[in-house]
Amino acid sequence: MIRDAARDFARTELLPGVIERDEQQKFPTEQIKKMGEMGFMGMMVNPAYGGGGMDTISYVLAMEEISKIDASASVCMSVNNSLVCWGLDRYGTEEQKQKYLTPLATGQIIGAFCLSEPEAGSDATMQRTTAEDKGDHYLLNGTKNWITNGNSASVYIVIAQTDPEKRHRGINAFIVEKDWEGFEVGKKEDKLGIRGSDTHSLMFTDVKVPKENRIGEDGFGFKFAMQVLSGGRIGIASQALGIASGSYELALQYSKERKSFGKPISEHQAIAFKLADMATEIEAARYLVMKAAWLKDQHKNFDRESAMAKLKASEVAMNVSVEAVQVHGGYGYVKEYHVERLMRDAKITQIYEGTSEIQKIVISRSVLKD
Ligand SMILES: Cc1cc2nc3c(=O)[nH]c(=O)nc-3n(C[C@H](O)[C@H](O)[C@H](O)COP(=O)(O)OP(=O)(O)OC[C@H]3O[C@@H](n4cnc5c(N)ncnc54)[C@H](O)[C@@H]3O)c2cc1C
Repeated sequence: MIRDAARDFARTELLPGVIERDEQQKFPTEQIKKMGEMGFMGMMVNPAYGGGGMDTISYVLAMEEISKIDASASVCMSVNNSLVCWGLDRYGTEEQKQKYLTPLATGQIIGAFCLSEPEAGSDATMQRTTAEDKGDHYLLNGTKNWITNGNSASVYIVIAQTDPEKRHRGINAFIVEKDWEGFEVGKKEDKLGIRGSDTHSLMFTDVKVPKENRIGEDGFGFKFAMQVLSGGRIGIASQALGIASGSYELALQYSKERKSFGKPISEHQAIAFKLADMATEIEAARYLVMKAAWLKDQHKNFDRESAMAKLKASEVAMNVSVEAVQVHGGYGYVKEYHVERLMRDAKITQIYEGTSEIQKIVISRSVLKD
């Protein structure tokens, strides 16, 4: 039912205009609002705070369907669900949940997760943004880079260094509101793919953050970020899965319609074998994504599996979308047939929420403990 609802929504609400939004770098404001009304923005959140109370498997199913059509809408959905809502639901105080989680989970507002900085990407311990303890509040100063939902969000989870001597143990996570004094949204990035998603740098100058807006104990911020990102990888893996399966479905359909040398191109073995490889790789990625989601739902450790799922699914998204363009021939190279956009969108899944190289570090550290 969840998959069907997401599929219907993607086809009727996201497909019209997806090419224009990509061209014009237009954020899908109305569509995200509707996704909130349908319960897609806080799927795993406790219903007491406006969420859907669903499991991660359901979330993966919905993410795949939305991503088949519009990966810009699905990254907004993924960040809101996995990085913002899940983190607050799990680690927020009752007051934080009442105030922030409920409007975020119902999609009335959307959230952003701010870890990356100009000089802290893969090495997130190198936080230069500081949060100085001033007694009843913190003073936040610094710059964040590449923030998804950068301008469209109302609430931001910001990671910052409170005690540099303690290195990553001195890092904290804070809930910051957009209209607070000293908070400025910087330039919007002009991107290769997911062009409907708004990616911005953010500047903080003496932003006063009340103490009650810190998430968890003092010094919990780095652990919080790593835990949230481990779950987030399941969201990005399912986005990649959707980009792959969306590309494949378009290629399959096209190959049956397009004729060359007197028969549908699907009857040329070179094309049929491409489809066989695509289907096999997608199925392999799907099992990895589902395994990671299932482990998370069983409250078992899923760090290794979510890294494996993201590594594999993002590679499959890239390879399958390139092949989908090839199956379309010249038509694959123009916007009307959608596969060129999916190919451009695929690349980011190998970069954000930990590059493929970083996933291999996570996986190798885990296997070497075996
Ligand atoms: C469109 C977009 C949206 C994003 N959204 C967000 C967001 O919402 N919030 C947020 O906080 N961040 C976001 N990011 C940032 C993203 O997570 C980082 O870009 C990513 O983690 C990589 O960091 P970096 O760009 O600094 O690359 P670097 O860390 O400089 O890496 C450069 C290259 O070196 C490799 N590398 C680095 N260290 C190692 C190592 N130890 N071993 C092997 N290879 C290594 C990397 O894999 C990569 O290939 C977003 C980025 C983009 C492009």
